[in-house]
Amino acid sequence: MNIRGLFPSFEDAAQFHGHVCPGLAIGYRVGTTAMQLLGVERPRDEELVAVVENDTCAVDAIQVVTSCTFGKGNLIFKDYGKGGFSFFSRDKGKGIRLRYRDFPSLSGDDGARMEQLKSKIHFERCATEAERAEYDGLRQRLIHKILTCKIDELLDWLPLTEEPPAPARIRPSVVCDHCGEHVMETRIKTLDGRNFCIPCAEHANK
Ligand SMILES: [Zn+2]
Ligand SMILES: [Zn+2]
Repeated sequence: MNIRGLFPSFEDAAQFHGHVCPGLAIGYRVGTTAMQLLGVERPRDEELVAVVENDTCAVDAIQVVTSCTFGKGNLIFKDYGKGGFSFFSRDKGKGIRLRYRDFPSLSGDDGARMEQLKSKIHFERCATEAERAEYDGLRQRLIHKILTCKIDELLDWLPLTEEPPAPARIRPSVVCDHCGEHVMETRIKTLDGRNFCIPCAEHANK
């Protein structure tokens, strides 16, 4: 799936992530929808910022689609365990927050069967090979459903009025007086006039 060539494909996201799963599909829809709603292209640098509130499979698809990545500093993780994703366009001065409606599932008997098989596989650990294959088939259908459903069945969104997070800064590094490794200046702890990295400072305090 490749939305008019504007975004990396879902297969690109799967390549990065290592497997295909419902969470990856959700992240793909979140990333593409956010960019369409903001009317932005993939950033070369930090023109677009993503603030994610969970560290699930979805975030890997968001990194591939939006080019808001951990290394570039325009992917900010807040460990709230929430199904919420905020995006800010610095160029356009606009922000948007997308949220899961309900966690998507197959409807009717298929949904119930999937839950039953999931429990047998992951919790009771008593599934047969045939049951695992049946589960995989249902999971593929769920992934397809997530990728093709009307977006407002999956997500809702609201505009943000707050300012985007400050851009990442390159900081000088300092050598830790204990382990001799390089440390970002802002992370140095000073004890009795000596510079320590965080783990060495914690160790020295024990
Ligand atoms: Zn996954
Ligand atoms: Zn150290």
